[in-house]
Parts: sequence; C-alpha cells; structure tokens
Amino acid sequence: MRQKTRKTITFISFILFPVTMNFFSPYVSIDGAISGVITGSVIVFFIMFLSGIIFGRSWCSYVCPMATLSEISENINSKNPNVKKLTTIRYTIFGVWFSVLVSGFILAGGINGFDPLRLTKNFVSVDMPIKYITYYLVLGLFFILSVALGKRGACHSVCWMSPFLVAGFEVSKLLKIPHLRITSDKSKCISCHRCDKECPMSIEVEKSALRGIISTSNCILCGKCIDVCPKNVLGYAFTKKTK
Ligand code: SF4
Ligand code: SF4
Ligand code: SF4
Repeated sequence: MRQKTRKTITFISFILFPVTMNFFSPYVSIDGAISGVITGSVIVFFIMFLSGIIFGRSWCSYVCPMATLSEISENINSKNPNVKKLTTIRYTIFGVWFSVLVSGFILAGGINGFDPLRLTKNFVSVDMPIKYITYYLVLGLFFILSVALGKRGACHSVCWMSPFLVAGFEVSKLLKIPHLRITSDKSKCISCHRCDKECPMSIEVEKSALRGIISTSNCILCGKCIDVCPKNVLGYAFTKKTK
C-alpha cells in the first residue's frame, strides 16, 4: 500500500512536469542570478534544503518528478552502479553550477528582487512548442543515464538538486535535530539480504540494519526495504541518532 501511494504521488508529479519544470531549472536560476533576482527555482531549492533538515531525502522518493522515470528504467537495468564514482561527478557538476549561480548574484551586486514566475509568465513552464525541446532533453537525459548506468544512475551522476537535500540532512545531523530515518531492531535480522536487493540507491541495507540505523545521505527513505523485510526489522523513526 505504501509503495502504491508513493508511486501514485510521484507519477502525478511526473505528469505535472511540463507545468513545474522551470521551478527545478538550473538555467532559470542562473538567468535570474545575473540580474540579482531570486527565481521560483531558487525558492524551490531552498525549500528542498529545509525539507532535508526534517525529512532527509524523502523528496527523492515522494515528490521528485524524476522518481517515476528512475523506477521505470530500473525495470530495464537493475544493476547497482558505481555510486562513489558517480557521486564525484555529481558534486563536480553541482560545484560548477553553484559557483556560476553565486557569481551571478555577486556580479549583479546582490539580491535586487524576487520573480518566482521568471520565464514562466503563464504559470506553465512548457508554454510554447519550442520549450518541449528542453522538456524532452531533460527526460531523455535522466532516462538514458539511468538505463545506461544502472539503478538511479542519473540521480547519482547529474542531479543538481539533491545536494540541497543532502545539505539539509547533514545540518540536521550536525545540530542533532530529530529527523526522519530508517532505524532497525537488529536482534530480529536473519541476514536474508532482501533489503539489499530491493534498495534503489544501492545501499548495503543489511549492514546498516545491524548497526541500528541507515546513516548514509544516499537513503531516499522510500521504505522499500521496510516493506520487503520478512521480519519487520526496519521502520521509519524521527530521531537525532546519527550512528
Ligand atoms: S536525486 Fe535528484 S533527480 Fe533523483 S529523485 Fe532526488 S531530486 Fe530527483
Ligand atoms: S535504505 Fe531503504 S529506504 Fe533507504 S533508499 Fe534503500 S530501500 Fe529506500
Ligand atoms: S530484509 Fe530484514 S531480515 Fe533480511 S537482511 Fe534485511 S533487515 Fe535483515
């Protein structure tokens, strides 16, 4: 039931992507930054950071429009990618983009205004046929990378949004703020490895379960490991426990 509900929500988010695309756009945020303007996408990135503080990376499994594409591509290639290598690529891309964004604001002399609907005057991101090129390029990129690299390959390698969620998650850990995690009753684990196979983020769930908590920021809190576990070892909890 939980997975059906989750997939329904992300499918709706995916269907709405032609409307919401600009609010996740790295291009729109830079277009605003060079004029010193806070755009809708910058506001959404800030909301993602705040959400990371309380809900970790659950945005990735309950809100993000790309989640549906990732799950479809998993049916074609369900191998675990080289997460470490892809994460390095992701943070390199993010570093370049974020530097350009900050430089834009500095060169513009700081924040001069707000324009949440920048380049989205009709409340719809894809409001003319030419914009479908960007729309299909984004979808194509995420789908092809996920099929080519393995489970959530695009999320690990190119996502420019997840660092905001990770930053929120790390702030929460640092300040010891209770936040959503997967915890375990390790005494019940029978080491069947089902959770490892089911995890879309290629996390060694069993190892973490034996420590009592999933501590990595790669966990997107999808709950698949909870649902597949035959011994009810795993569960959601709001906790400030870090290890
Ligand atoms: S990693 Fe990025 S693209 Fe993937 S689900 Fe999370 S926010 Fe969406
Ligand atoms: S550890 Fe569990 S909740 Fe976290 S991403 Fe993997 S399956 Fe989902
Ligand atoms: S599915 Fe449950 S019992 Fe099996 S290894 Fe994972 S936590 Fe342990």
